[in-house]
Amino acid sequence: MSKYVYGFAEGNRFMADLLGGKGANLAEMTVMGLPVPPGFTITTDACRAYLATGAVPEGLAEEVDEHLHALERAMGRKLGQIDEPLLVAVRSGARFSMPGMMDTVLDIGLTDDSVAGLAAWSGDERLAWDSYRRLVQMFGTTVLGVDAQLFASALRDAKRAKGVTGDLDLDAGDLRALTARFKEIVREHAGREFPQDPREQLDLAIMSVFASWHTDRARTYRRAEHIPEDLGTAVNVCAMVFGNLGEDSGTGVAFTRDPATGAPGVYGDYLADAQGEDVVAGIRNTLPLHRLADLQPRAYDQLMNIMATLEEHYRDLCDIEFTIERGRLWMLQTRVGKRTAAAAFRIADALREEGLIDADEALRRVTGAQLAQLMFPRFAATDATPIATGVAASPGAAVGEVVFDSATAVRRAEEGTAVILVRRETNPDDLDGLIHARGVLTSRGGKTSHAAVVARGLGRTCVCGAESLTIDTHGRRFTTADGTIVAEGDVISVDGTAGAVYLDEMAVVASPVVDYFEGRTPPESDDLLLAVHRIITHADRRHRLEVRANADTPADAARARRLGATGIGLCRTEHMFLGDRRVLVERLILADGDAERTAALAALLPLQREDFSRILAEMDGLPVTIRLLDPPLHEFLPDRTDLTARVAVANALGNADAAADELLRAVNRLHEQNPMLGTRGVRLGLVIPGLYDLQVRAIAEAAAARALAGGTPHAEIMIPLIGDARELEIVAERARHILAEVAAESGVDLPLEIGTMIELPRAALTAGRIAETARFFSFGTNDLTQTVWGFSRDDVEASFFPTYLAEGIFAVSPFETIDRDGVGTLIDIAVHEGRAVRPDLALGVCGEHGGDPASIRFFHEVGLDYVSCSPFRVPIARLETGRAAVGEAGAATDNR
Ligand code: PEP
Ligand code: MG
Repeated sequence: MSKYVYGFAEGNRFMADLLGGKGANLAEMTVMGLPVPPGFTITTDACRAYLATGAVPEGLAEEVDEHLHALERAMGRKLGQIDEPLLVAVRSGARFSMPGMMDTVLDIGLTDDSVAGLAAWSGDERLAWDSYRRLVQMFGTTVLGVDAQLFASALRDAKRAKGVTGDLDLDAGDLRALTARFKEIVREHAGREFPQDPREQLDLAIMSVFASWHTDRARTYRRAEHIPEDLGTAVNVCAMVFGNLGEDSGTGVAFTRDPATGAPGVYGDYLADAQGEDVVAGIRNTLPLHRLADLQPRAYDQLMNIMATLEEHYRDLCDIEFTIERGRLWMLQTRVGKRTAAAAFRIADALREEGLIDADEALRRVTGAQLAQLMFPRFAATDATPIATGVAASPGAAVGEVVFDSATAVRRAEEGTAVILVRRETNPDDLDGLIHARGVLTSRGGKTSHAAVVARGLGRTCVCGAESLTIDTHGRRFTTADGTIVAEGDVISVDGTAGAVYLDEMAVVASPVVDYFEGRTPPESDDLLLAVHRIITHADRRHRLEVRANADTPADAARARRLGATGIGLCRTEHMFLGDRRVLVERLILADGDAERTAALAALLPLQREDFSRILAEMDGLPVTIRLLDPPLHEFLPDRTDLTARVAVANALGNADAAADELLRAVNRLHEQNPMLGTRGVRLGLVIPGLYDLQVRAIAEAAAARALAGGTPHAEIMIPLIGDARELEIVAERARHILAEVAAESGVDLPLEIGTMIELPRAALTAGRIAETARFFSFGTNDLTQTVWGFSRDDVEASFFPTYLAEGIFAVSPFETIDRDGVGTLIDIAVHEGRAVRPDLALGVCGEHGGDPASIRFFHEVGLDYVSCSPFRVPIARLETGRAAVGEAGAATDNR
């Protein structure tokens, strides 16, 4: 029979799949001998079984009994015991941290009888009744599903009746009356009494945590963070310790380094005389952790020692939650902490320097997505005065219109407006708003508040704790210290790096990391640049996949080279036929007879040659894969509707224009219902005589001229949209003929390789035949995804993808991250078939997936030689190709 429950001493940090992140780390700390309150973890297996059947899995109740008894023995008290009750906390804890998204119930075990026992034990009657009313409230809302507003308004009424404003102004008698009122609310709205059996409380709380895996906000968070839907959560049950027993008690959260900057030195927030979530909720303003040294020197020293031990043990930034109960320190949680992108690079490099990890591990600790964040622009230096300052909780430069609630943020963002969500504090219900906003501004809470933690996780800019602001959510405005009123819809700029807020839109400048990649700033000038430099150069040493760029102008080519591309994997030629040259192409397409066609081709040849010469010059010595013309014919012809209208008007006015009439007839003849599947790619080359010949000649002449001028051109010719080997054979045969002609004319040897894109399923399935001719394959995963799924790449993302994502048909668009099961299988087939025929076949990918971190891992695994992506993504691809080569991070790391 399955084992569903593990005592904290039975687990370890590598068991996060089974025990969840929180449970695995509580176990690790217990085994390390750190002061963790006794407890046990119910596994994710149990949760999955419960969610699948709706019933408590067989044997779970007995196992919980057994572990509860052990816990009672360890504490010397029984759950809910009347004279001196043992209380427990029931907390969710999934494999990947989902802050505040699932349920937690504290103070389980309090009943009408045991509340007096708690008062006697703690010597604090107020505390006992406050804990009881919190339990009824929390249990009522999360377990029994009662509307939270009912409790909140009862609490407000109690304060109003007494003429006070703060919760702390209510005394034991008030709280006793409030508890009675809360129980009435439960009776009226849940249709049952608040349970007086502690064990029933515990069982119901456990099931409610299981069920909270499926709440809307948990689902939304998983979608945003790409966390699989089927993992389930573990449930941790542990003895309650009290941070609210007076001034010698308290609770806090801390990091072993600053999670915003990565700077060394502990960092955290502390609240005296407070319990559990009070710190994270941002409801009361906290003290900086170092103040604890004066308040509780012994506990502080012990905490510092434990934090140093944890960082050394985990070899990473740890974040922890702790409680001090009457001077005694308890560790309630630790985990490898979330951090900003800049902190991730600085910390990885610092830990390597300290010898805690090696260079491969430092590379595993950062991601391409984090590097992308560092490459976003920043605000320019300014002497404007901020309208407010606060905690720099999540870096970045966000400009947008102010909104005051999550629903408005979502609506306005979906209309295409950049918005900044402004709240006193955020709570898990604001998640959708946080996802849709460019930035978040709050007036309460520190770096560990909900807004800060979630914004960092999502990569949103955040300033929190801007206390000088008075936020009037109902009035939809906020007021600054000097009385300036900012209303919904006004534009503000939020600088999450400096913790400042400005009125109106501020100018932005390139990020220093981009300046470093561009060679404008030396890495030694800044510790972040140095960390990026060291890590990316290590990636370059370790990668197996080369990184090329998709570039079709000399400027893009030069930029790609500066950013570290080792070639051009896709030089599209479409734009070279647009603009002024479109008329020449039009003439070519409509040519009546050889003479007209030859004249049009002759006019295009020098232009094309010049295009290629300039790109080959920029990329001298590196491969440049030039793709022959691909797009549907109609893109070069006038718009059919416009032209029809023009001709009709001209005819109606008696100004008939024979040329326009003829053009219209041609446009109608060439019109296609489904041009993406029509006359494009190699089909164009086959039906328009001379078109591909012209392009091949231009490439050959440019290469020959460059070689004669002393350069080292390395052009390759790539044929698009092949479905059958014969198509390639025909084009390749002609191309070889032209290469030989130009070689003879110029006296330069021109052994240019000819290869093809693999972007149709049939090409992938017949890759062996195609490889008899092709020297290289480049997977065009944009078209391959389009044709494998039958999804129009131009339409579907805006039409039905939101439904598909919501239904979990896929977790991310297959145009963004490669669909391993479908498209990936075809790539795998083509790789094997192609290499079986031609072992030295060069293999690359040039669809958008070439710059996507998750896809790069797949291309590495399937054995490609290079990825090619837009120049801006080259550094990200360099990092990710290196990361793919050094493999996965350890099981304890949750660095999403
Ligand atoms: C592709 O289809 O993946 C590709 C790179 O070609 P294009 O995007 O130009 O169709
Ligand atoms: Mg394509």
